[in-house]
Amino acid sequence: MDNIEVFDSPGKGRGLRATKELLSGDVLFSEPPFAAVVFDSLADKICHSCFRRQDKLQRCGQCKFAQYCDKTCQSAGWKEHKLECGAIKAFGAIGDNFGKAPNENIRLAARIMWRLDKEGGVMSDMQMTSLDDLENHISDMPEDDLKELKVDIHNFLDYWPRNSKQHRVDDISHIFGVINCNGFTVSDQRGLNAVGVGLFPNLCLVNHDCWPNCTVILNHGKIELRALGKIEPGEEVTVSYVDFLNVTEDRQRQLKMHYFFDCTCEHCKGHIKDDLKMGGKEVDGVKVPEEQVKEVTEYSLQMLQKMDKARMEGNYHEVIKICRECMEKQEPVLADTHIYQLRMWSTASEVLAYLQFIDEAADYARKMVDGYNKLYHPCNAHLGMATMRAGVTHWQAGKIEVGHGMICKAYAILQRTHGPTHPITKDLEAMRMQTEMELRMFRENEYIYKSMREAALKNQPMNMMNEPMAESVKNLFRRQKK
Ligand SMILES: [Zn+2]
Ligand SMILES: [Zn+2]
Ligand SMILES: [Zn+2]
Repeated sequence: MDNIEVFDSPGKGRGLRATKELLSGDVLFSEPPFAAVVFDSLADKICHSCFRRQDKLQRCGQCKFAQYCDKTCQSAGWKEHKLECGAIKAFGAIGDNFGKAPNENIRLAARIMWRLDKEGGVMSDMQMTSLDDLENHISDMPEDDLKELKVDIHNFLDYWPRNSKQHRVDDISHIFGVINCNGFTVSDQRGLNAVGVGLFPNLCLVNHDCWPNCTVILNHGKIELRALGKIEPGEEVTVSYVDFLNVTEDRQRQLKMHYFFDCTCEHCKGHIKDDLKMGGKEVDGVKVPEEQVKEVTEYSLQMLQKMDKARMEGNYHEVIKICRECMEKQEPVLADTHIYQLRMWSTASEVLAYLQFIDEAADYARKMVDGYNKLYHPCNAHLGMATMRAGVTHWQAGKIEVGHGMICKAYAILQRTHGPTHPITKDLEAMRMQTEMELRMFRENEYIYKSMREAALKNQPMNMMNEPMAESVKNLFRRQKK
């Protein structure tokens, strides 16, 4: 930690600032989780040790809950699972909980407590704060959240073994409060899907800005804080807790609701880019009347909700029907940066690609990326991932020139946001070499190119695309769906 230090950030409490000049792509720190668990919903699909998705997992013979790739993962995870294993077994034997394991929050809280009991709350050189010093925001919690907290604590007490060290209820609620506002979404190895939740103490010290100078990424089991541009010595380092593709009012509402503060960053103060995100189309220099833009915006919001529902149900043909119906109304009225239109294009391209309507998928992907480029910081991880997805779709559609261009662009972004050793950057590098070769061939002899592409398409496993059903990773911290 020779490039950052803890300081009192005016109006924000503790924060981190640079102690020397940092450049785009620099890693400010990397940190393993203090503790992490797999989501309840994915408990039998993800390895509880390495967090990879596997078709075949081996169950722990004792608790029958934890699952692992193989013996190696099981041994590697035993240190964290040992005490938990007996507790899960005992919990599932209690009448009301019969056959069940406690929820992810409770499992995470217990893992944290066991580790604290074993190692004490002392900080190491690598850990810049103790867990005691982190904020729990329990006094800010609304009534409903407090009720849930009570239920969680009640279940926690059922779960926590008699022969483990006993704790005061206040200390237990502190940990739940910390998890509630700082539980970080753990993604699979490629960073495409959210699979679990973990606590990373140093990360809790990094404050929010809607237009941040850093990004955080999970790479080989550790998070890395990476600079997005030049940072001067003394400058506060920030990440964004929410996706920038929301208007100021919505971002502020989310931040207030989940993290209990009022954002006063430059982008919020200036409502920067809100006009683009909610804008109307201009045809031959004439703007579409505001009333009409408003009407289609409201209509779009309803359609987005309908679409999300169909998508969660896995009803992809219904999703496409809704998208098409909505896009037809949006296209003549909304600006190509309107975020509701971008959401439709994004989903349409993703689902159409999944259903193998590649040409149409590529068209929407391109519109989406064009819009994203006007809104996002040029070195934004979501922009990089979306550009990659669009590039792969274009390549699949045989649009090699555009596809290669997008893949190069995505590669340049991910080099900095994810770093050269991240699995997705490596995939992208291989993809870039492949498309570069194909492009050369395409320019020399289109016929040979086409036959070669057929072969490549058959061999290329589509591991760079996420399933439309899966929960994507857009918000930094895990928020429980109510
Ligand atoms: Zn594993
Ligand atoms: Zn077990
Ligand atoms: Zn802000």
